[in-house]
Amino acid sequence: MTHPHPIPLVHASLGEQELAAVAEVFASGWPAGQGPKGKALEAQLSRRYDAHAVAVSNCGAALHLALLALGVRPGDEVIVADYTFPAPAHAVRYLDAVPVFADVRPDTHTIDPQAAADLIGPKTVGIIAVDTVGLPADYRELQALADRHGLFLIEDAACAVGATYQGRQAGALAEVACLSFHGRKGATSGEGGALVATDAAVAADARLRSSFGIGSIFDQSKVVGLPVPEFTEVGYNFKLSDIAAAILQVQIGRIEELLARRAAVAAHYQRLLADEDLLTLPQVPDDRTHAWQSYLVRLDDRIDRAALAADLRGQGIGCGHGTWATHLQPVFETKQTCPVSADLFHRHLAIPMHAELTTGQVERVVAALRTALRTHRTTTA
Ligand SMILES: *Cc1c(COP(=O)(O)O)cnc(C)c1O
Repeated sequence: MTHPHPIPLVHASLGEQELAAVAEVFASGWPAGQGPKGKALEAQLSRRYDAHAVAVSNCGAALHLALLALGVRPGDEVIVADYTFPAPAHAVRYLDAVPVFADVRPDTHTIDPQAAADLIGPKTVGIIAVDTVGLPADYRELQALADRHGLFLIEDAACAVGATYQGRQAGALAEVACLSFHGRKGATSGEGGALVATDAAVAADARLRSSFGIGSIFDQSKVVGLPVPEFTEVGYNFKLSDIAAAILQVQIGRIEELLARRAAVAAHYQRLLADEDLLTLPQVPDDRTHAWQSYLVRLDDRIDRAALAADLRGQGIGCGHGTWATHLQPVFETKQTCPVSADLFHRHLAIPMHAELTTGQVERVVAALRTALRTHRTTTA
């Protein structure tokens, strides 16, 4: 049975402005990728990050293209943050390379630079750090580590558009960053992504491989004569449609407004739950800001998480587990252990977080959560 007044876990803030932008694309006659809207979006992202941006179909594709452009070869080892949507490890496997799982910090849930350092071996070629559910990782320490060992560093900023680290934008914290515009992220076109690179050659390589290796068909349509491009490399179709690009131009323009609303929700949860001793709230170090893609609380060990979540869902309150301990996923069969990540995977609860939650909804979530914590607390410790 559906609840009369559900509070969804997530909600994409798409409206009239985005619709108007889509109408323009329909009128233009170029709905496919790498057309005028795609170029305009790339220019907007390039300015925002002061780097070269390539619009692609999703963040998984951006990670794949990044590893190709950086020259990862079969058998190479790439260190990946363990506690995350496991796209980084999937991308490493696309190239028949080996993901090596680094545990995360217990406070920020981002890759622990010391754990990464301990995993570096003769086959290591790079590190993929993740801005966990929107909180940037420790790029100062990670970059020093990468420099010391001659490794590449990729920032998976899928959840972090709008966050900052030491005054710099997430998405510009490493030589290559990968963004997601999936419907559950802070800025969205339903599905979408981008690769942002400081090196023009990396961006050019990614752009070419994202269009079967022959470049923009839109550009070729403008050439006088009869261009017949040759296929010289195996490429992919990872282009972002101009329809999605038009939506994203609006969303990127609204990011500060959308983020301010998410931050207000987080601050409200923080105020209302600060004294709740049956859970631990997210922590944000002073040198960075959070994009609040998700709001994750760690439940006390005595709480039956599955029963609590089912109870909340029964009341129409969206909730879920946090994100994944990658090394525990069957596809990645490994003997490695990452105890912090495993603990978060089993104890985190995601509660509603999006830009349109009202004060009243936040209060209802907190009241229901406080009651459920007591209902589903086992008495034997
Ligand atoms: C969502 C997410 C991805 C995947 O993004 P898509 O655009 O859906 O491919 C990758 N990495 C992280 C950290 C994510 O949260």
